[in-house]
Amino acid sequence: MIKTKLDPSIVAATLTTCLNKGVAPIALHEPSFRGNEWLFVKDCLDTGWVSSVGKYVDKFEQELAAFTGVKRAVAVVNGTASLQIAFEVAGVCPGDEVLVPDLTFVATTSAVKHCGANPHFVDISVTSLGVDPQKLREGLEKIGRQTPEGLFNLQTGKKISALVVVHTFGHPAEMDELAEICSEFKLTLVEDAAESIGSYYKGQHTGNVGLVSTLSFNGNKTITTGGGGAILTNDARIGEIAKHITTTAKIPHRWKFAHDRVGYNFRMPNINAALGCAQLESLPLLLSKKRDLAARYQIAFEEIPGVKFLAEPKYGKSNYWLNTLILDEDQAQLRDPILELTNNQGIQTRPAWEPMHTLPMYADCQRMDVSNSISMASRIINIPSSPCLTPDV
Ligand SMILES: *Cc1c(COP(=O)(O)O)cnc(C)c1O
Repeated sequence: MIKTKLDPSIVAATLTTCLNKGVAPIALHEPSFRGNEWLFVKDCLDTGWVSSVGKYVDKFEQELAAFTGVKRAVAVVNGTASLQIAFEVAGVCPGDEVLVPDLTFVATTSAVKHCGANPHFVDISVTSLGVDPQKLREGLEKIGRQTPEGLFNLQTGKKISALVVVHTFGHPAEMDELAEICSEFKLTLVEDAAESIGSYYKGQHTGNVGLVSTLSFNGNKTITTGGGGAILTNDARIGEIAKHITTTAKIPHRWKFAHDRVGYNFRMPNINAALGCAQLESLPLLLSKKRDLAARYQIAFEEIPGVKFLAEPKYGKSNYWLNTLILDEDQAQLRDPILELTNNQGIQTRPAWEPMHTLPMYADCQRMDVSNSISMASRIINIPSSPCLTPDV
């Protein structure tokens, strides 16, 4: 069925051919519990270790560090909390500005606010959907002033202390270029790798370049602990601080209850970590099923005019967390009719997030030129991405 002009029915039909006869409704991303989930969770219930400490928390942290290749992983309650702590341990202070991509899930921005800092929106690349290095550099050259105390924003007078990079939909961002800019402009680099467990930049797992990085294990992510997140770092001291302040900053002692700074109760419960341990065992299989699905989409959409399937960048490997179609600029008006038709047919699809600068609580934030973000937000359609859509072999 090759047509010369795109219409919603051709997108719906093409999706259907890739979905392995999935039965409607087909969710955007479903969790898969086919390993030791029951066994490990039952063990928590049987032994009574369901709460804020336990062997699964330690095991999950060790196995996460091993899988991602970082020195230290700290498990926490969710991805948003992990970002807040990442900014705090990275030295972001109240009143600072943090550079945030304009097209991201709202949590990246909220976490900056939770630290008392100010989001400053930067543009994304149309190829990787991560922060655009070229536009970032141009923006910083325009508004930045280097001082012995760091980089200051000439327009606001505020210190710009960090850049947070997002590996959007699982596709690794252009880390060499972004790390280079951070070292040149004296910015701390934080990676929001919430969407990119199992994604690699030049052979190295995402989350290894920034001083601190974060993961999310929400129910819609590649693996889930129900709710959960983690802080990753290759700096042992920062890892210690992150563990300490997310566990109420209690001084270790057999019975004494003393605390040495303002801490948080952001501990991941053992019962959630048990789920995480089982999910990590299944992760390689889940990733390979997700890549199979992405490969089917890629082939199927090659034939279709007016729309492109977003493939992983040449320099990296994507986990294809959320598969993504991008309409050509002159087809953007078809986005809503496509969303309408596919959702009516029980195939869950959705647009990208609203650009951060358009949200009422962030409308007054500083921003650079974010034209790519605006354009992409009007043309992206996320399509079903669950590993269960690939049959067992
Ligand atoms: C999911 C997500 C988060 C937040 O994680 P939660 O566990 O839902 O709090 C943060 N950033 C990005 C880019 C995400 O996709």
